[in-house]
Amino acid sequence: MSLKSIALSTLALTLIIAVRYVLIAWMTHALIWRRRSQTTAGTRLNRDWPKAATIKHELKLSLLSSWIYALPAAVGLEAWKHGATQVYLDVDRYGVWWLVASGLIYLVVQDAYYYWLHRVMHHPALFRWTHAGHHRSRQPTAFASFSFDWTEAALNAWLLPAMAFVIPIHPAVILTLLTLATIAAVLNHSGAEVLPPWMVKGPVGDWLITASHHSIHHIHYRKNFGLYFRFWDRLMGTDTMAR
Ligand SMILES: [Zn+2]
Ligand SMILES: [Zn+2]
Repeated sequence: MSLKSIALSTLALTLIIAVRYVLIAWMTHALIWRRRSQTTAGTRLNRDWPKAATIKHELKLSLLSSWIYALPAAVGLEAWKHGATQVYLDVDRYGVWWLVASGLIYLVVQDAYYYWLHRVMHHPALFRWTHAGHHRSRQPTAFASFSFDWTEAALNAWLLPAMAFVIPIHPAVILTLLTLATIAAVLNHSGAEVLPPWMVKGPVGDWLITASHHSIHHIHYRKNFGLYFRFWDRLMGTDTMAR
């Protein structure tokens, strides 16, 4: 593993992450905030129409985050090429059931890690240095899905590559997880709820974090810290659906 190959992988991954983010965020934003008719797809959560200054700030932080996320991923990729990770290609090695089980384990670990990291970052002594960038968007747009201060990005970015050194995972599961994470983050910051009310108020919204749930966190900082599931918020008494 050479520094040159890590640098090249970092560059390639930065581009992939950034282009993927811009495309998905832009498409979601354009679909939800339909300019011509001045109507919103889904139930509108943001009070105001998205401001150009907000999107500009979100884009700036997100592009920096793309580079920070790419760095540990590049180290993981290079380590994988040298057989140092638990990333495997042969599905039969652990069976089909492990594809599902490993995906769930990664989700649950990431969710628990983020809940507690998120609470720590809201400590007054740390907030300014780690998490204020994300909260500059009180009425976030889809572009806020990746807008983190570099410190928050760094605290998050290492987790998945590090887990790949310990828990066997197939590249298809990694891609599925990254896609799910992107879709969830983009929708949860889009400023509108695209899920129908029966889903938000039903079993889906009861257990999964939706835009209705996360948009409350951008208004009431002491509630709704979770990433994917409402489990930790409920357990710790930080869960609310009251705006
Ligand atoms: Zn927060
Ligand atoms: Zn947020």
